[in-house]
Amino acid sequence: MKLGRRQIAIGGALAGLTACRTEPAAVSRDDERSVDRILNAQRTRDGAGVALSRALGSNALPMLDPFLMLDQIKSDDPNDYIAGFPEHPHRGFETVTYMIDGAMNHADSVGNHGRLGPGSAQWMTAGRGIVHSEMPRQERGLMWGFQLWVNLPRARKMMKPRYQDIAPERIATLERDRARVRVVAGTVEGTTGPVSGIDVEPTFVDVALTKGGTFQLATPSGHNAFAFVIDGAVRLGPSRDEVRQGQIAVLTRGDRIRAMCDAESGRMLLLAGRPLNEPVARGGPFVMSTNDEIRQAWEDYRAGRLTNGT
Ligand code: FE
Repeated sequence: MKLGRRQIAIGGALAGLTACRTEPAAVSRDDERSVDRILNAQRTRDGAGVALSRALGSNALPMLDPFLMLDQIKSDDPNDYIAGFPEHPHRGFETVTYMIDGAMNHADSVGNHGRLGPGSAQWMTAGRGIVHSEMPRQERGLMWGFQLWVNLPRARKMMKPRYQDIAPERIATLERDRARVRVVAGTVEGTTGPVSGIDVEPTFVDVALTKGGTFQLATPSGHNAFAFVIDGAVRLGPSRDEVRQGQIAVLTRGDRIRAMCDAESGRMLLLAGRPLNEPVARGGPFVMSTNDEIRQAWEDYRAGRLTNGT
């Protein structure tokens, strides 16, 4: 099957066994990234009934290599999230949790546990296997957090699991040109985020712009990149395409991203990473390279050996 320029990925229902592959978006002539397409995040439920917006990983956009999923939980009603994500397994990829408001309690099968508070991040490499729970917790007020899934190269899918817990004060904040930028991963104007040693060399920045604010980010030109606007509206690329709250903008290849706000303020998560260009087989909480490996993961989980050797 030949893929069109705008057809970034192909795949079926996420719950079953699916195989996706990706093709780079076209390179813009002056090497500044343009908006390739804009999609709306989709409302859905996951875990034990948590209401969330799925920006990436929906049928509309199954993945953007190496990123597999991006969910947002944002609610001031605990009924939307209190059931949480009770004990469940992962294998073959990495989960990234980023909190703006509220907290996420997590605990795993080998005794790691903690509480991610406002402004914190956790980069968890599931590798060969982890069984954990993730429970949003908030007495009152807003719960606002994100979970990103990042693929691992085939050769690293069975690596030993690893956590990087990042306290809020470790995330550098840059303030200039009416922009406030938190660098979780990657480098912005010489400031490098605290997450290190990740195979796909990710960029993960939280950019808040007030009216008239501008921001430019240099990115490796071969990386895939997208923006998820989480508040207000942001204009992106040489055409200054408007991307509104709840929308994801897939960007073309290029060596930089330019963003600005004019009449209103805006905030976005900006992500870039090195595409793996490998086959992807997905089965619920597992992301492997073949359907046989997915079946093996389920078998290992049911037999209680998913985390053996970790
Ligand atoms: Fe999980």
